[in-house]
Amino acid sequence: MSPHQRPADRPADRPGDPHGRGHAVVIGAGLAGLTAARALVNSLDRVTVIERDRLPQGPGRRPGIPQARHTHTLTAAARQGLEHLFPGLGQGLIRAGAVPLRVPQDLLLLGPHGRLPRFDCGLPLLGAGRDLIDAVLRERLRTDPRVRFLPATRSAPCGPAATTPSPACGPAPTRGAPPTPRAPPG
Ligand SMILES: Cc1cc2nc3c(=O)[nH]c(=O)nc-3n(C[C@H](O)[C@H](O)[C@H](O)COP(=O)(O)OP(=O)(O)OC[C@H]3O[C@@H](n4cnc5c(N)ncnc54)[C@H](O)[C@@H]3O)c2cc1C
Repeated sequence: MSPHQRPADRPADRPGDPHGRGHAVVIGAGLAGLTAARALVNSLDRVTVIERDRLPQGPGRRPGIPQARHTHTLTAAARQGLEHLFPGLGQGLIRAGAVPLRVPQDLLLLGPHGRLPRFDCGLPLLGAGRDLIDAVLRERLRTDPRVRFLPATRSAPCGPAATTPSPACGPAPTRGAPPTPRAPPG
């Protein structure tokens, strides 16, 4: 088998084959969905990520993550956790435009007791738009033949919020999904 052959093509992944390790479906291609997908491929043959938005190539705005327009930061602990799943992620983000910040050296922080003195406390942050963070994670997963994205697909309601029981919390094609707005230049 070629190393790039999709696991779905492998004999072990045929339905009913006891040697297959299984297929997981992740709902949502936000940070939680992307990290869950990465964690699941360690123990399953295939992971399908269902996302109701169309997913841009590279960083791009989309309706499902309206907070993306706010600057986000990755704390040292968040970066460490993500590096565990996506080795080299921090450097990848910096190459893509994320800004390393020493806190509170590089930030002017005003609290109830006035301004925080500016010094390097040894806890670096990475400043980046959420769309950039998501894009770098998504591209890493797109190169993994075990992961498949199913964009513009809304999952059926499931869990306590569902008004009518769904036969399966599976994908239901999004009808009339509005086109994903393009990110403004710059
Ligand atoms: C203003 C603001 C600033 C923030 N700043 C920071 C920060 O600096 N640092 C930080 O770490 N966090 C920050 N956060 C928090 C961070 O954005 C959230 O914790 C994070 O987005 C949660 O990720 P998530 O994957 O759980 O959910 P989301 O990012 O909301 O992703 C959910 C995904 O699921 C999709 N989806 C939902 N329903 C369906 C369905 N039925 N079918 C298919 N797809 C579906 C959505 O389209 C979306 O893509 C901030 C939040 C806000 C609001």
